[in-house]
Amino acid sequence: METNEDIKTTPRGFYCRLCSVHTPNQVSLEAHVKGKRHQHLCRLRTKRSAQVESSIFVSGFKPATSRTELSEYFEQFGPVSEIIVDKDKGKYAIIEFSEAKSTQAVLAQLEHRMQGLKLRVKPREKKEFRLASKTSAADAQKNPISLEKLNYDLCQTASVNEQMQKVVESFQLSESDRNGRELLVELMEEVFTEFLPDCQIIPFGSSVNTFGVQSCDLDLVLDLEHTKAFQSQAMKSEQTGENQSEDGQSEDSILSELDLATATPAELLDLVTAILRKCVPGVHRVQSLRTVRLPVVKFSHRDLKLQGDITINNRLAVRNTRFLQLCSGLDSRVRPLVYTLRFWAKQKHLAGNPFGGGPLLNNYALTLLVIFYLQNVNPPILPTVEQLKDMACEEEECVIDGWDCTFPSQPLGVPPSKNTEDLCTLLHGFFTFYSKFDFPGSVVSLREGRALPITDFLCKDEEKPDPPEGSDSKQKQAAGPKLGPVNILDPFNLHHNVAGNLSERTHRHLHRECCEAEKYCRSLQYQRKSAKGKSWGLVRLFAPRVEGGTRSQDGTERSLQISIPFRASVLPESLRKKLSSSGNAFRVIWFGKLCTAIEALFKDVLKCSPAEKPGSTLEQTQAGGGEEEVNNNDSLEGSSQQGATHPGGKRRLPAEEGSSSTSSQGKRRRLDPSAGRPEKACWFWAQRHMVWAGRRKVRRDLLKTSDEASAPEGGCSSIESRVTQCIIEKVADPKDLVEFRVDAEVLGGGESTKAVLKFTPTNDLAGYFQDFFHFLESFLPKMVETLLAKLE
Ligand code: ATP
Ligand code: MG
Repeated sequence: METNEDIKTTPRGFYCRLCSVHTPNQVSLEAHVKGKRHQHLCRLRTKRSAQVESSIFVSGFKPATSRTELSEYFEQFGPVSEIIVDKDKGKYAIIEFSEAKSTQAVLAQLEHRMQGLKLRVKPREKKEFRLASKTSAADAQKNPISLEKLNYDLCQTASVNEQMQKVVESFQLSESDRNGRELLVELMEEVFTEFLPDCQIIPFGSSVNTFGVQSCDLDLVLDLEHTKAFQSQAMKSEQTGENQSEDGQSEDSILSELDLATATPAELLDLVTAILRKCVPGVHRVQSLRTVRLPVVKFSHRDLKLQGDITINNRLAVRNTRFLQLCSGLDSRVRPLVYTLRFWAKQKHLAGNPFGGGPLLNNYALTLLVIFYLQNVNPPILPTVEQLKDMACEEEECVIDGWDCTFPSQPLGVPPSKNTEDLCTLLHGFFTFYSKFDFPGSVVSLREGRALPITDFLCKDEEKPDPPEGSDSKQKQAAGPKLGPVNILDPFNLHHNVAGNLSERTHRHLHRECCEAEKYCRSLQYQRKSAKGKSWGLVRLFAPRVEGGTRSQDGTERSLQISIPFRASVLPESLRKKLSSSGNAFRVIWFGKLCTAIEALFKDVLKCSPAEKPGSTLEQTQAGGGEEEVNNNDSLEGSSQQGATHPGGKRRLPAEEGSSSTSSQGKRRRLDPSAGRPEKACWFWAQRHMVWAGRRKVRRDLLKTSDEASAPEGGCSSIESRVTQCIIEKVADPKDLVEFRVDAEVLGGGESTKAVLKFTPTNDLAGYFQDFFHFLESFLPKMVETLLAKLE
């Protein structure tokens, strides 16, 4: 049903208001009006207008009135198909009936009463039908939710629970936003179908996973499965001479040039780019990105003011979106938690990089962390993916690219949780859970609903990108997730670490923010509304991160400590093998190797000499520190042993008596896991030269005159040893500049697996130790990793 009002004459021809399309002359106008797109929008308009005809606008009911109560009342006039309640205040609702005659029946009745209140009922307002809701998009642009307004609204509520609901209301996609997106998807599918018959455009990601925020991107998949079938059928017909097109220029002419079964991702990407650029109105800034993992075409839409991307045949992403939708529908606490944590993470610069990529968590990975936490509360709020699979029926079975993606399609098939904790407690629990979580030492598995030991993955880690789509599952078995500081297995593609892009820095930052949030959640300011009008609850939690601010407040970071994180990805192959079969002992075994590397660093690379332990008797040591630590100066296996013979340093721990590696000088493998305290070590060293001063220049000069290939600082032990030697040779009469103690300890399990080295200057009369330590802070972790690799 096209109307004359749709077409406007312009100096350059005609303009179709319905489709926002210009045509230069009458012939092209007629072609446009008969075209699929215009016809489709006309049909849609008729449908929408019928919906308006069968809807009424109601107000005057109590704010807490539920949809069910409204439905129960209005069902007396005819079957109700939909109820939309205004999201902000619950002050009005639109009731949509299945038939228009029910509307007339409602309007014919003079008075309506519900719960003692008189209702105001009127016909639903008729709005002009447009492809894009320009006003809403413009409004969203003009009024991005300001933090001030949000904070004000949050402070007005009565509890943290209400605050979290308010966060959802403030950020969620509005109805008009959703409608605009739906229309664009329909339009795109129309256009693409003209070139690629039977193709589908399927939205996924936050536009449809129930966690979308205003202005979030529109993620789309172009599914060509049916088109491939269409093409192969057409090819067969062609060979038998059936169904030849009359003009030879049929809509599927692209298919006569491109065989979808053999087309490369690059060819498909070019095709999508061309169609988007030339044929979809309102789309601009089209750009294809040929990343190895997932080639994608990015675009913007003018009227909807949104950014989107199209990937091809990305069926796993569509499926994992359905999984998030399911989780959201299983328990009403999931959405407020996810929205609150997405905003918190954005404020703290932990997640939500608008351009994707980079070393931050993406929103998908963050949402998986929330789901994993809810699988681990007691009693669980969400079932594991394995349990969900068992709850699915036969028709719901689904395997994509060899991965089992079976789960129930509807929440109804899953028994409700027995957990009754409120949102305020659960949010606090999230921070507690992850502030104690050993990310580097474990792998988050939503499939099993538990943290798997990292050792299970040490022999599977692969740097290679995932095998190409369609590859058989055997090939997939050979690969494994790319391990990093944070390891979150995708619930379906079990060879994919969705947080594989995270840097060590982001991991540290995530840990620090969780600890701070956890501490704050213990305070009354979090739990109780301020009687004096001060900010409370989520408001303080959402305070934006101040760059560098947390660092100086953190007392431990100012102390003389250096941490060496457990980094599975840099370990040598043989060590990985050894660790993979060592269960929980992997930490002490790794630490033992690390200590050998640390000793090599001080002794061979920086040429420190073993120092006298201050307070020379065993009794003094024990009385002083209450520790049983001993001088553990030891040497890298195979290198010569020097000095380190303070009486205190020769004491053996009972568990080490008889150790076969004990030398005549009291040297021992103090860190053997069978020893008494294999998770600790201690050394005393003396440095007689300023091996840190002017080091870069010495290094540069050395590399100029040598054949040795260049390596980054700390990347090659022989170069670094020679740099130290050069510095040492310049000084004629060295003195002991600094003497210091190093206490090392391996941590993990209830926190991130790492070694912590604590430095204590024992003799620093000239005040050089700070400079030396400053140098060690950046040099030591790199050099130790290099030495560790060499050890094998
Ligand atoms: P937003 O766009 O608001 O940041 P989102 O949930 O849409 O949130 P995106 O990063 O746009 O997140 O990802 C869109 C979808 O792509 C996700 O829902 C998921 O299906 C898929 N996806 C994103 N990142 C990954 C990943 N690392 N591994 C597997 N699938 C991913
Ligand atoms: Mg998205």
